[in-house]
Amino acid sequence: MKYYDKLIFELSKKGRTGYSFGASQFATDVALPAGLIRDSAPELPEVSEVDVVRHYTNLSQMNFGVDTGFYPLGSCTMKYNPKINEEIANMKGFQALHPLQPACTVQGALEVYYGMNKALSALTGMAGFTFNPCAGAHGELTGLMIMRQYHLLRGDLARTKVIVPDSAHGTNPASAAVCGLEVVVVKSNADGLVDVADLKPLLGPDIAGIMMTNPNTLGLFEKEIGEIAALVHECGGLLYYDGANMNPLIGMVRPGDMGFDILHLNLHKSFSTPHGGGGPGSGPVGVCEKLLPYLPVPKVVKKEDGSFGVVCDSEKSAGQVSAYLGNFGVILRAYAYILMLGKQNVKLVGKYATLGANYIKESLKEWYKLPIPSICKHEFVFDGLVNDGSRKGSDDEREGATTLDVAKRLLDFGFHAPTIYFPLLFHQAIMIEPTETESLETLDAFIDVMKKIAAEAAEDPAILKAAPHNAPITRPDETTAARQPILKFQDEA
Ligand SMILES: *Cc1c(COP(=O)(O)O)cnc(C)c1O
Repeated sequence: MKYYDKLIFELSKKGRTGYSFGASQFATDVALPAGLIRDSAPELPEVSEVDVVRHYTNLSQMNFGVDTGFYPLGSCTMKYNPKINEEIANMKGFQALHPLQPACTVQGALEVYYGMNKALSALTGMAGFTFNPCAGAHGELTGLMIMRQYHLLRGDLARTKVIVPDSAHGTNPASAAVCGLEVVVVKSNADGLVDVADLKPLLGPDIAGIMMTNPNTLGLFEKEIGEIAALVHECGGLLYYDGANMNPLIGMVRPGDMGFDILHLNLHKSFSTPHGGGGPGSGPVGVCEKLLPYLPVPKVVKKEDGSFGVVCDSEKSAGQVSAYLGNFGVILRAYAYILMLGKQNVKLVGKYATLGANYIKESLKEWYKLPIPSICKHEFVFDGLVNDGSRKGSDDEREGATTLDVAKRLLDFGFHAPTIYFPLLFHQAIMIEPTETESLETLDAFIDVMKKIAAEAAEDPAILKAAPHNAPITRPDETTAARQPILKFQDEA
């Protein structure tokens, strides 16, 4: 333990201060109401300025982020976020806005909403968007509320089920359940795609719709989407597209053209906004023409005189899903990103995302088991090591290295671990997504380390089992850490 690994309270020494204010800086003749005066002094750490600065600077460096290293977290799209977005989101004219300001005083901000609506509609092939949902899962719930409202207002009350593939992101069935819809699972076939033969018997008058991701969670393009869309529409259902990871398709293929009626995007993944740690996020929802009236309120509209306004025409709307118009700063960053790329360069996003993922997959497939060998899109899944170093039944019997061990060992080399043990289709899943913003040199460095780790596992899996060897925390009990986190100073005295 380094001396600065202590908590700020543990660094505290009675009577030590990090500041000094001249008495003349305070008015002394102001009498505070008795009810506002403390009975006892607040329990604050007593530390010098240099201790405070070192403590928080060191703490910040214990964190791992896309600004400190490669972060190949599958299904999460941890890509580089251009710093110009931060400059723009920090511009006074945007930052100091209040959501209840009269529309005539925020025309610029409303124009950003409007422009973003046009840009995303063009990129996805949808008729219009709401930006009110504050996360991807929130967008899913909003989209499903729109789906339900559409069926309810047609008097079609029997449609209470939604079909979700077994490879789906966990939020899909969860959102359906929160929306009061019953989840029906459709199986994947041996190629990792939705099994159309398994889907057909599920379709009927009780189906509200299907939720899909394309490319799916295995990074595979659902080639039968045309047929699936026709089948679902024929039975009276709607198609929902989970576009959290749209980056392999941006500028190349549009979900609207595939037959999807409703979708959400994660601006805090595919559209270059920082994410992690719980927000802020943005999960805009786009719909096809016939579902426009069901979008949540409030909405931003362009009036006949060219100015922008905010309306709440809630006659058919699925309702209100957040306090105002969503997380404006996130929308602003995404808008800057789209405009910066422009029509030409936006086409490169999907190509590079796909190229990077396939490059890593092909480079490592002799060392890591590749259950589905076809061309992937932005991500792919390995199923553990080809040679995990185990020697079961031999004289010097030993346990082999697992996916967890590989992930832990990567930390020693300065890489964030990929997503592990997800999706649940494989026991030792390692899900890698490099994203489009990484250089060939970075990909090569990662590939080298992954090969080195595979060689270590074959030779001496104990090295991996004891990893990480140089991280502040090594192997916490992850369940307890998640379920009963200790988030504040525990004063033992
Ligand atoms: C991240 C993700 C979500 C959920 O998004 P949140 O903003 O974390 O709620 C949904 N679906 C997929 C495929 C995702 O990758």
